[in-house]
Amino acid sequence: MVSKDMLRYGTVRSCIRELFEYGKQRSSVVGKENVYDFSIGNPSVPAPEEVNQTIRNIIDEMPSTAIHGYTSGPGSNETRAAIADNLNERFGTDYKFSDLYMTAGAAAALTAVFRALTIDDKTEFIAFAPFFTEYSCFATTAGAKLTTIPPDIPAFQINFDLLEKSINANTQGVIVNSPNNPSGVIYTEETIKKLAALLKKKSAEVGHPIFIISDEPYRELVYEGTVPFIPHYYSNTIICYSYSKSLSLPGERIGYALVPGSVEDHDEVYNAIAGAGRVLGYVCAPSLMQHVIARCANVKPDLKPYIANRELIHNGLTEIGYNCAKPSGAFYLFMEAPNGDAKSFSDMAKQSDLLIVPGNDFGCSSYVRISYCVDHDMIKRSLPVFKKLMEKIRG
Ligand code: PLP
Repeated sequence: MVSKDMLRYGTVRSCIRELFEYGKQRSSVVGKENVYDFSIGNPSVPAPEEVNQTIRNIIDEMPSTAIHGYTSGPGSNETRAAIADNLNERFGTDYKFSDLYMTAGAAAALTAVFRALTIDDKTEFIAFAPFFTEYSCFATTAGAKLTTIPPDIPAFQINFDLLEKSINANTQGVIVNSPNNPSGVIYTEETIKKLAALLKKKSAEVGHPIFIISDEPYRELVYEGTVPFIPHYYSNTIICYSYSKSLSLPGERIGYALVPGSVEDHDEVYNAIAGAGRVLGYVCAPSLMQHVIARCANVKPDLKPYIANRELIHNGLTEIGYNCAKPSGAFYLFMEAPNGDAKSFSDMAKQSDLLIVPGNDFGCSSYVRISYCVDHDMIKRSLPVFKKLMEKIRG
């Protein structure tokens, strides 16, 4: 009667959502202060005041029909020009408003890009573990196959031997997510240069471009080092960006796909993304938020609370004896499960109302993800619980 796939996606929650819902239910039983919920990546820093003030100004200044009406499918020219100006200033590029396609967040940008690049049922995309769990359903429901490359433990860069073996004539794109969810790692310039060189070689071999699809919701959340701007290294890069995390607006659904002028057959690629947006029924990105971004494209996030949380959780866990690298960006810490098995470790933690996500769904079954975009005080209160857990494991 209905699509089995859609039914499954609609009824079986992701592991993250499962833990998040469990946390809410436990809070109502044992009290919110006794549940240590590190499950979900909802920004804990409020949206910048400029954003809130801009929303008020827009409501006061603009006619309601203009605020809430449809924009053109690719988005308002003013918004796209403001974003292009921001990128050009920061990265020395010469992007035009017409290179940008506004979307309801990075998720919509990714689904449109996968759909646009899927030629037939042999099409393949490649992702590196650990990866954002939704890539799999986004790619497969576009009609493609998602090939995943096992994690490069413990550096979480790229296993190039396996990547090279996985590329074939059907490979249309490689997904890069740096700063990474869930590892918090930033791909080094060396990694990006190697990736670019390999993809150039392989594109020539297979006779068509293999795109880099750069998924960048965490671009602005950087605490150490810099994030190489991938179009500088590889011309066939399509960026999927989001304001969900940088401006703490995840529920407002605003982001974009950027097809730089350097992309081969630029207009064809751009128009196919627009076509995908159309058939997926996106119509246009949320209008009020487009007006906000037109005025707030240069607003920067307040990183201080995340930096304080990162110090506290990383130092605290390391002192207890947990093995975890200090994340360079995003707001996740990826920690080795001390018993070697993420699932059973996460289950053990759950018994103490400590909610951490096993890495299995991210393609890494020996690590757990700790989202530290939480109340600072909760981290403090959780450390004795992490300590008891470690004692239990050590016997
Ligand atoms: N990509 C990654 C790596 C993410 O972590 C997320 C959200 O958590 C998304 C994409 C989707 O973000 P958005 O809210 O912009 O759709």
